[in-house]
Amino acid sequence: MSTVAFIGLGNMGSPMAANLLKAGMTVRVFDLVPEAMKSLADQGAFVSSTACGAAAGASVVITMLPAGKHVKNLYLGNGSDKGLLDVVAGDTLLIDCSTIDAQSAQLVAAEAAKSGIEFMDAPVSGGTAGAAAGSLTFICGGSDAAFERAQPVLKAMGMNIFHAGGAGAGQVAKICNNMLLSVLMVGTSEALQMGVDHGLDPKVLSDIMKVSSGGNWTLDKYNPCPGVMETVPSSKGYEGGFMVDLMVKDLGLSQEAALLSNSSTPMGALARSLYVNHARQGNGRRDFSSIFEQFAPLKK
Ligand code: NAD
Repeated sequence: MSTVAFIGLGNMGSPMAANLLKAGMTVRVFDLVPEAMKSLADQGAFVSSTACGAAAGASVVITMLPAGKHVKNLYLGNGSDKGLLDVVAGDTLLIDCSTIDAQSAQLVAAEAAKSGIEFMDAPVSGGTAGAAAGSLTFICGGSDAAFERAQPVLKAMGMNIFHAGGAGAGQVAKICNNMLLSVLMVGTSEALQMGVDHGLDPKVLSDIMKVSSGGNWTLDKYNPCPGVMETVPSSKGYEGGFMVDLMVKDLGLSQEAALLSNSSTPMGALARSLYVNHARQGNGRRDFSSIFEQFAPLKK
C-alpha cells in the first residue's frame, strides 16, 4: 500500500486526509500548527515534525495550503530551508490541492520537471462539507500520466475528477468557478433580503427561487440567510465553511487572470470589491455567505 504525505491540515486538509485513512492508505501528516495534527493522529496518521520529513519516501505528496507564496516556499524552499523538491524521489507524484495563481503552479511544475518529478495542480470545489463527505470535485492541471496516477488518492477524497488541461489549467478553471460563485452568493443575498424587506418568509422565497429561473448552487446547498437551512454556516453564526479572506484571495486571483488575458469581468470586479469591503469590516475569518449581512438592516 502506498504512503501518502498530506501537508496543510486546515478546514479542508484535515477531513481530506481523514478520508485517505478511511480508504486504508498509510498517511503521514504535517501542519505548522501542531494541534491540527492531533485528531488525524488519533485516526491512525503518522505525525511528522517537518514537511520534508513527511514527504521524503512517500509515493504521493498532497498539499492543501492557503496561497501561492506558501506553495512556492514549501516546494521550492526558502532561503536555507529545503523545499520538498529537494527531498522527494524522482517517481513521487506531487499534487497541490490549494487554490493559487496558475503562474505559481506552472513555476513549481516546471521546477519539478527539471528533476523528472510530476507535479499536478488539483484545486477542489465542494467546501468543507464536501471534504468531510469525500465528495469533492477535483479540477486537475498536468500531464495525462500524472492525472492517471492520481486517480486512487483523488477518488478516496472526491467524486468528480476533471482534467482541465496542462500545468496551471486546474487553477484557471477553479478561479473561473469561484468568481461565478461569489457573484451568485452576492446576487442571492440581495434578492433574499429584498424579499424579506417586503415581508416574505426567506424559506418560502428560497423554495420558489430554487425551482425557478433564479435557481443556483447557493440556494440548493448554502443558503446565506440564517435559519433557512439548518446545517450550513449561515445558521451557525457564519462559522466554519469558506472564509471571506479566502474568497477575497480567489477574487484577486480572478482579477489578475482577467488582466493577463484582457478579459472583461465586471461582475467579478464588483464582487471582489464587495468582499474586500466586507473583510475590512472585520469579517475576514467568517464564512463567505456572511456577505448577506451587508444587505440586512443593522441589528439594534
Ligand atoms: P486553512 O487556513 O483552514 O488551512 C490551511 C492550513 O495550512 C493551516 O492549517 C496552516 O497551518 C497550514 N499551513 C500553512 N503553511 C504551511 C506550511 N508551510 N506547512 C504546513 N502547513 C502549513 O484553509 P482551508 O480552508 O483548509 O483552505 C486551504 C486551501 O483550499 C486554500 O487555498 C483555499 O482557497 C482552498 N479551498 C478552501 C475551501 C473551503 O471551503 N475552506 C474550498 C475550496 C478550496
